[in-house]
Amino acid sequence: MAATILDMEKLFQLFDNSTTIIMNELHISYLEALAETGANIFEGEILQDLDSFTERRLQKEYEGVDLSQASNEMIRKAFQLAILKGMKEAIQPNHEMTPDAVSIFISYLVEKLMSKKEQFSLLDPAYGTGNLVTAILNNTNKAVKAYGVEVDEILMKLAFAGANLQRHEIELFRQDALQPIFVEAVDIVVADVPVGFYPNDVVANEYELANKSGGHSLAHYLYIEKSLKHLKDGGFFVAMIPNFMFEGEEAANLNAFIKKNVVIIGLLQLPLSMFKNNKHAKSIFILQKKGEDVREPKQALLAELPSFSKKEAMRGIIKNIDNWFKENL
Ligand code: SAM
Repeated sequence: MAATILDMEKLFQLFDNSTTIIMNELHISYLEALAETGANIFEGEILQDLDSFTERRLQKEYEGVDLSQASNEMIRKAFQLAILKGMKEAIQPNHEMTPDAVSIFISYLVEKLMSKKEQFSLLDPAYGTGNLVTAILNNTNKAVKAYGVEVDEILMKLAFAGANLQRHEIELFRQDALQPIFVEAVDIVVADVPVGFYPNDVVANEYELANKSGGHSLAHYLYIEKSLKHLKDGGFFVAMIPNFMFEGEEAANLNAFIKKNVVIIGLLQLPLSMFKNNKHAKSIFILQKKGEDVREPKQALLAELPSFSKKEAMRGIIKNIDNWFKENL
């Protein structure tokens, strides 16, 4: 069958239909099946052990679509929609994918921060599905050496499939990112950091930001320290952090650590309407690791972002941020 003209809806249908076939045949979850179909599409063959009738049904789905007609952003968005469908089944809040609008907004910030570089290296130590990183890679013309670390096996499989389908070479490591990772120091770390307690006290105790008063340490604190460790001097950290980051008994340690090691570039609060519960609301925190030629900005970039769907208000804020970068970095 000849491939038809591709749009995002058709691509989503391909992912969704083929995932459903595999899920029902192999009795696995939607997300696992999505990773399987992603691998099939990338390899151009059916990799699972299926009966010939099911194989033919799948083949028919795959033949209807020619991925070479699709832009990377189209592939990312269609894959993202399928992941969202799968995540509705069962997902813990800490495994949620970074939303599309935030991923694209962070891509814009990364472009600003890396504007003087012809190429750069990037690490996401909470890689998840890779939605955030692939949005960044799809929205830059620069060569990027990208690394991702993710502990969850299914998310890592989805991440591999997503990176392959979007033709990105990303070095992915499936492991606990708070343990030693074998990644060079990079120009920029991006992350939608996991929030909550980190269960491994032995590993946590290696960190300056470990909980000193007994009990588990905060993963979101350890992630900041770990990220800085993997940055070059003068490198940037752009992360989604919980709004309550600077509250609680441990906050004084975090403040002191930040003052010692980094310059605060900005804090942008995401609209509360994005979050089901205000307690889960997040901000984008931007830091620069201290180093030669690194200067404190005259004034940090502080703003409450409007809802991303309010185009006029968004244009206004982007103009302000553009001006801030012109004056400060
Ligand atoms: N940016 C990701 C995306 O677009 O899909 C979403 C990141 S999600 C909010 C946080 C991720 O951190 C989850 O996928 C979770 O499995 C991962 N994570 C949590 N603790 C981790 C650890 N110690 N090491 C590696 N990954 C971890």
